[in-house]
Amino acid sequence: MCFTISKKDKNTLARTGVLKTKHAEIKTPFFMPVVTKGIAKYLTLDQLEKLNTKCFISNSYLLYLKPGEDLLKKTKDYHNFINWKGGIFTDSGGFQLKNPEFMIKINNKGVWFRSPFNGDKHFMSPERVIKLQNNISSDVAMILDDMQDAHKTKKDYEIAVNRTIDWAKRAIKVHKNKDQLLFGIVQGGIYKDLREKCAKEINSLPFDGIAIGGLALGESKENMHKAIDYSLEHIDRGKIKYLMGVGSPEDIIQAIGKGVDCFDSIYPTKMARHGILFTRKGPINIKKAIYKENFEKVEKDCDCPCCKKHTLAYLYHLYRLNEPGVKILMSMHNIRFIHRLIEEARKKIKEGNFESFQIDFLKNYKI
Ligand SMILES: [Zn+2]
Repeated sequence: MCFTISKKDKNTLARTGVLKTKHAEIKTPFFMPVVTKGIAKYLTLDQLEKLNTKCFISNSYLLYLKPGEDLLKKTKDYHNFINWKGGIFTDSGGFQLKNPEFMIKINNKGVWFRSPFNGDKHFMSPERVIKLQNNISSDVAMILDDMQDAHKTKKDYEIAVNRTIDWAKRAIKVHKNKDQLLFGIVQGGIYKDLREKCAKEINSLPFDGIAIGGLALGESKENMHKAIDYSLEHIDRGKIKYLMGVGSPEDIIQAIGKGVDCFDSIYPTKMARHGILFTRKGPINIKKAIYKENFEKVEKDCDCPCCKKHTLAYLYHLYRLNEPGVKILMSMHNIRFIHRLIEEARKKIKEGNFESFQIDFLKNYKI
């Protein structure tokens, strides 16, 4: 059993537990920063570790292109190559392959895509994606799914759901690595019937965990949360549930209350690079002149390297000068903010106070 629940909240569906993988034992719920090519944007792996990151997600299709499978095999595996002792999820590439810069064609056989490095054409089938992730030796592999952008027709989502279910069955057949967990993905846009169909089918297959994908892509928050509910309703409570691509503090806290155990998103670091810092009272914009002579910390009780040492006035000064270092400092704060928030959520679940913590957080967090 890779996932054990140690405590369930009384008034919500929140729970805390442990995900055991080959390289790590990760307390749930948890958040994974995105380490696309072997390093996060503006943050080293050492910095992520010091922020208490236990697991991150990388992109298998970009690793396949560079440094390439052969090099990773020569260095034993990806963990060894980058010298990371914690957990690693690898995404199948389904998300990035939707980028028009990469995508050439998709049909029931798989995906044809273009290398962003030199323009070469490549093909990935659902089976090939699993073999690739086996060779990378990540802790958790994701199936290749057909993810539709927001604002497509219902017919497009229906085709994507049928294809995702078919590819999930094909992925299960070729996944032979006992050291690697395999997660299925639920698609279906914001449509109740499609989410239900996909969740039921994916839930019936012997996956180690179930992800909810295809959200936070431009749909309204209301529709996103409905789609999460439609999916969760048909996934066994005892399974670990991973909400892909959702990373705002308010969405994470709401989703934990629905029973989600795991998150990844570029949102915290992307916001930091755009001058937005998370605080318990809501996000603040460091570009505003009100911070020019504000000698307070971003958050008094935050233990991140940015808050331990620096003031808002200093960050304002650096950001106005477009100094790259400020993006490092602000990314550290936002990642640590999310980790601290989830660490507190875990504590509150254990204490049986998650619901009041959730209500207070959402009341105070002004967007
Ligand atoms: Zn901080």
